Amino acid sequence: MKLENELEEFALAMFDRSIENLSDKECYVMLLNFVKKQLAKAEPVKGKKKLYYISAEFLIGKLLSNNLINLKIYHEVKDILEKNGKSLSEIEDIELEPSLGNGGLGRLAACFLDSITTLDLYADGVGLNYHLGLFLQKFENKEQKEYPNPWMSEDSWLEKTDGQFEVPFKNLTLPSRMYEIMVSGYNGKTNKLKLFDLDTVDETILESGIGFDKKNIEKNLTLFLYPDDSDEDGRKLRIYQQYFLVSSAAQMIMQEMKEKNIDLHELHKYAVVQINDTHPSMVIPELIRLLMENGLDFEEAMHEVEQTCAYTNHTILAEALETWPYHYLEEIVPQLMPIIEKLDQVAKERSNNEATFIIDKNNNIHMASMDIHFSKSTNGVAAIHTDILKNEELHSFYELYPEKFNNKTNGITFRRWLFEANPELTKFLDERIGEGYKKDALELRKLLEYKDDLKTLDELRAIKHIKKRQLKTYLREKQNIEIDDHSIYDIQIKRLHEYKRQQMNALYIIDQYLRIKRGEYPTHPITCIFGAKAAPAYILAKDIIHVILTLAELIDQDEVVKQHLRVVMVENYNVTKAEKLIPAADISEQISLASKEASGTSNMKFMLNGAVTLGTDDGANVEIHDLVGDDNIYIFGAKADEVIDHYKNQDYHSYDLYRQNAHIQELVDFITSDKMMDLGNPELLQAVHDDLINKDWFMTLLDVEAYIEEKHKIMEAYEDRLAWSKKMLVNIAMAGYFSSDRTIEQYNEDIWKLEK
Ligand SMILES: *Cc1c(COP(=O)(O)O)cnc(C)c1O
Repeated sequence: MKLENELEEFALAMFDRSIENLSDKECYVMLLNFVKKQLAKAEPVKGKKKLYYISAEFLIGKLLSNNLINLKIYHEVKDILEKNGKSLSEIEDIELEPSLGNGGLGRLAACFLDSITTLDLYADGVGLNYHLGLFLQKFENKEQKEYPNPWMSEDSWLEKTDGQFEVPFKNLTLPSRMYEIMVSGYNGKTNKLKLFDLDTVDETILESGIGFDKKNIEKNLTLFLYPDDSDEDGRKLRIYQQYFLVSSAAQMIMQEMKEKNIDLHELHKYAVVQINDTHPSMVIPELIRLLMENGLDFEEAMHEVEQTCAYTNHTILAEALETWPYHYLEEIVPQLMPIIEKLDQVAKERSNNEATFIIDKNNNIHMASMDIHFSKSTNGVAAIHTDILKNEELHSFYELYPEKFNNKTNGITFRRWLFEANPELTKFLDERIGEGYKKDALELRKLLEYKDDLKTLDELRAIKHIKKRQLKTYLREKQNIEIDDHSIYDIQIKRLHEYKRQQMNALYIIDQYLRIKRGEYPTHPITCIFGAKAAPAYILAKDIIHVILTLAELIDQDEVVKQHLRVVMVENYNVTKAEKLIPAADISEQISLASKEASGTSNMKFMLNGAVTLGTDDGANVEIHDLVGDDNIYIFGAKADEVIDHYKNQDYHSYDLYRQNAHIQELVDFITSDKMMDLGNPELLQAVHDDLINKDWFMTLLDVEAYIEEKHKIMEAYEDRLAWSKKMLVNIAMAGYFSSDRTIEQYNEDIWKLEK
């Protein structure tokens, strides 16, 4: 039957009306159920060996368009809706974005599920079903305020299943319940994302904002992702969450193995467990525990688990490498302690280097150490990051297990970040280079043949302008902000963290502001766009948001300056917003302190959509630089080795730079100038000012001048519209390497070894 007739029949069956007479909401529900039915009919991926990708986060984004694309009916459905007076994008507005992730790590897990399925690899994503997400961000009095972010509704992709397990804690046993979301691949096949939850969780225990009783585990366990861990109860709640996740996962794995009659002495031939960062690390002792319950002795179980698990490291930030006090675990999951003790002994037999101990002399348990000793692979997520792990952060482990270390440079799924987010550019590519790049992303290089074709370059610029206008409309509708689509869109969107250095971008804005005040106008007006959530307990990050919002208001109130410079901060940055922002960007801000951003993935999304990177020699920026060459990227600032030396020698003192450099002093002091203090909250502005001059742990003042200088260069380059369009073209053409299909092929070749 023709799709149009099928949809009409579906609408009639559900609502007793034809499509043209449905409301947008009904139309959404109709499409949701139609697509779910298609996915249920689709062929599930199968295989001998199965991957379990365990992650605290899956930042999957809305799924309607994504599934329509993977089922290859996106354009047809869009046309059918249009014929009936409906718009797919308005219908999509109804869908709530699942709030199951926080940032890059969770988005990576989502891109991976898409690529794993597309490549026919048999896998489950395994995570938790957070009812209220991370949080919903609002700006009030130019400050971030956090609210619950409910996303589950009657009509959603999430399906309750009968799957249940008993998760044992010291003083209580909690029943975990499995939910599922179908994952589609671009081959029309499916895998599943399995999300565990607890039936007794109760949203009514919420107090003001996102506060709740942290001790009430039966009611709070899966309320929020990353509940505030600034106090002891919060940290313990995180352990409850982590164990609930990994025990459910491990029990599910055992159940599946038993159903397949697999000899558990050969577990590693049938299962591989990818541990995404340290949050699921307890899966190692938990699997050992369950194998021992099933008749293996400790040695056998340990050996089997070491062959089955693999660990991905996502950060070298010391504060992000999890350690738990021994007595916390003992109080919550005592059944794991004999196993962790034994693993610690084995680790100490393998090396007497304290840096590799699982339990340190202060009785803290180092989760990453357990991962590296007792999994078969440890990977970093970009070339420079893996080098730093091998040579610096994890050097002692590298000496012990050189064969375990490998690099897997991150990637992004082009289905979402190109086909869905930028259909205009996709069509342009189809017309120029054919559709082969949709299966083999490296074919994007064919676009280089058009590098000097004026018509192609004109069209590329025209598409960018369409996307800039669309963003302008979106911001007007959603946030009541009016921006100039003829200005340069300079975009920094990512979690707010000092190492990502949004504060350095703020200092650039101050510099521009002061220049404009002196009558030095930029050739093109500039719109600086931010999007960032700060962790609720990360005070300085929230203060930096306040600085940016105060600057935005100051400029908005200045009739002269606002003609040349605007600052916009998008509220509640998430995947949906990223899909609107990224295709519209001229400049991609990737300005982390070198060595600190493990990879970054927004840098890849921007490149694919024809933005030019302004960045440091950090994470995947280094690989972008290698691919596009010096002419097509703007790199500045201290190099990673220099930064690492500063930390080793403890010889970076921001106060010296502040005192010795009048320009830097002027910029920093502006944060606490009368103008700013009158508009903003003096205490918060002062806190940012004082941190910059007294601490500046991520070396903003070291790079700020080089940054401002390089930013002038990139702005000047924008003026040569022809040369700029060539830079756009080269960036798009070379982005194929960053397809997550490539990343997943490499994981499978080197680590998972699933047959296809
Ligand atoms: C891609 C993405 C990220 C990661 O951004 P980075 O700049 O690489 O840190 C974070 N959040 C969302 C919503 C994303 O889509």
